[in-house]
Amino acid sequence: MYRVAAVSTPPDNASRTEPAGNQHPLASALSDLAEFDALLDAAVDAIVAIDQKGLIIRFNKAAEEMFGYTAAEVDGKPLNLLMGPGEVSDHQGFVTRYLRTGARRIIGRVREVQARRRDGTEFPASLSVGEARSPQGLRFIGLIRDLTSQKQAEEEALRHREQLMHASRLTTMGEMAAAMGHELNQPLAAIATYTAACQRFLMQGDGSREDVLAALREIGAQAHRTAEVIQRMRDFTRSRASQRKAVRLHALVEEIWPLAELDAKAHHVRLHVDIDPELPAIYADGVQIQQVILNLLRNGVDAMKNIPENRRELHLRAYTESPRMLRVDTADQGHGVPDAVREQLFTPFFTTKDTGMGMGLAISRSIITAHGGKLDCANNPDGGATFFFTLPTALQQ
Ligand code: ADP
Repeated sequence: MYRVAAVSTPPDNASRTEPAGNQHPLASALSDLAEFDALLDAAVDAIVAIDQKGLIIRFNKAAEEMFGYTAAEVDGKPLNLLMGPGEVSDHQGFVTRYLRTGARRIIGRVREVQARRRDGTEFPASLSVGEARSPQGLRFIGLIRDLTSQKQAEEEALRHREQLMHASRLTTMGEMAAAMGHELNQPLAAIATYTAACQRFLMQGDGSREDVLAALREIGAQAHRTAEVIQRMRDFTRSRASQRKAVRLHALVEEIWPLAELDAKAHHVRLHVDIDPELPAIYADGVQIQQVILNLLRNGVDAMKNIPENRRELHLRAYTESPRMLRVDTADQGHGVPDAVREQLFTPFFTTKDTGMGMGLAISRSIITAHGGKLDCANNPDGGATFFFTLPTALQQ
């Protein structure tokens, strides 16, 4: 099938059977053979050749299918016919510019372009252009690949990821709402009880002024606690608006170090850090990761409140756990974690501290999970606990 007559007659009317001049022997042999056209037509990618005036001289089968034109229809037409309006100016003068300046603006590079079908619809495509010197002059060969399905798959994957994120957020929010309801019930019930007591004191006159004041103070404290619970819930939802980019753990820790040290010093804890600045970057919301680290360090400090000051050591380490995962450890010498409550620590509002809110670990775990990592803890063989989390390196994203 020597289908080129209508397609490939170069506009300068040079004959296809002319001697091949300085062409590669194989190319010159092929260009005279029907196999060459068979080869072009067998290609999966659209192949469009243009001459040095930017006019189409070859248009293979895949190009016909992709663009909806027959080879005969586009023969001798400008390449711009196949490009979206945004691309026209790019292509219109590229050949002349190249001939004039020799600047290879698009030759040898793969670019993404907006291509246009016969019916006017546009689609994303990759275009790579090669240059061939033939006896008839310069030729440019464009390989065009339709990226529609690739783009659709990418968008689908993104949508899927967003849906998953949304679903997991809803689950967390659902859990949070249930836990919050439970948590708010207690102070609200207390407020109701103290209010009733105040009414009784005042109506029956069986309480002193001091009793009334004490009940009112308690009401104030409980109201304050409900406000705090609500504030934590707000912080939690706010922390979901994530701003991710490639960041280095070393830099993140450097920023929060003064704060962490201040806190440790105030509780007579020696803080040690061991993070290689050359660790691979992570793709993360830096502020959220800082929040997690500060929270783990804070907990480590709290856990050592009741041990002698000379044993209060807190270590922060980061290292590569596997080629694609970083791991961050905070190891303390505190009271450790009883096996029975290990999982409960990560549920909202679980706390063993008098003034604790029990939100730190729940929020930290949800942040790390949303980043594709894991947060957990284990007791150290020599006492105390290590809370650790993993994060995928940026290369993976
Ligand atoms: P909070 O600090 O307000 O209690 P968290 O969610 O941060 O809230 O912690 C929940 C509970 O987990 C703490 O009350 C404590 O019992 C336990 N915990 C956290 N960190 C440690 C630690 N380093 N060692 C031992 N127990 C810990």
